[in-house]
Amino acid sequence: MRKQIVAGNWKMNNDLAQTETLITALKSHKNTSNAEVMIAPTATNLWQAYNSLKNSNIEVVAQNMHFAENGAYTGEISANMLKSIGINTVILGHSERREYFNETDELLAKKVDAALAKGMNVIFCFGEELADRKAGNQEKVVESQIKNALFHLEGSAFRNIILAYEPVWAIGTGETASPDQAQEMHAFIRKTLADKYGSDIAESVSILYGGSVKPNNAEEIFSKTDVDGGLIGGASLNAEDFFAIVNAF
Ligand code: PEP
Repeated sequence: MRKQIVAGNWKMNNDLAQTETLITALKSHKNTSNAEVMIAPTATNLWQAYNSLKNSNIEVVAQNMHFAENGAYTGEISANMLKSIGINTVILGHSERREYFNETDELLAKKVDAALAKGMNVIFCFGEELADRKAGNQEKVVESQIKNALFHLEGSAFRNIILAYEPVWAIGTGETASPDQAQEMHAFIRKTLADKYGSDIAESVSILYGGSVKPNNAEEIFSKTDVDGGLIGGASLNAEDFFAIVNAF
C-alpha cells in the first residue's frame, strides 16, 4: 500500500504570530482519512512549528535546503541544520525555486543527494510549463526532469522520496489539471520509474498532484488510481480548507 500524503506548502507566508494562529486552527481539526499530513512553514518558523506539532500527527517539513554541509553560503540552510531542529523532510525542486532562483536539475540532483545522505525524506517537485503542454511536450519535459535529478540514485533511495507532479500552469492560477490529465501523467511517471527500477519500486512511490487543489476538486483528483495525495499551496493557508482537502481521501 502506498502512503497517501497531503502536504501544505505555505511558501513565504505567515510570520511567527500567524504561524501560531494557523497551527492552533489546524490542531482543532480531525484527520478522518488515512492520509499523512505535512505542513511546510517558512524557515524562520520551523522550530516553533516543530515544537507546537511534535506530539501531533502533522509533520513539519522544510521548503528548501542547500546541498553543502556548511560553509560560505550566505543565507542558506543545510540538511544538518534542519535535522538538528527535528525536521526530517524537505521539499526540493518547487517550480518557484526553479523559476526565481534558477534551480536546475543538476543542482537539484546535488540537493537530493545531500538530503538523502543525511537520512532525510525528499518531496521532489517537477512539472511542465504551459508552452510545453500546448506543444504536447509535457511527458518529455517531466521525464527529463525526473531522469536528470533522480535517475543516478539506487532504487532503494526511493523509500525516502515522494514525487510531486505540479504542472506550472496550474500553480496558484486557479487552473487545475483535470483529474484525467493528472491520472494520465501520474501513470506515465510510474511507468518511467518502472522502466528504470522495476514495478515493485514504481508501485511503492507516492506521487502527489499539485496545482490549485481546493476542497471542491480534491476528492475527484484523489480518486484517481495513481494520485497518492496532494501538495497544496494557497488552500493550505486556511485550516478549514486544508483539512477539507485532507479528508477528501
Ligand atoms: C504549490 O505551490 O505547490 C501549489 C500547488 O500551489 P497552489 O495550490 O496554490 O496552486
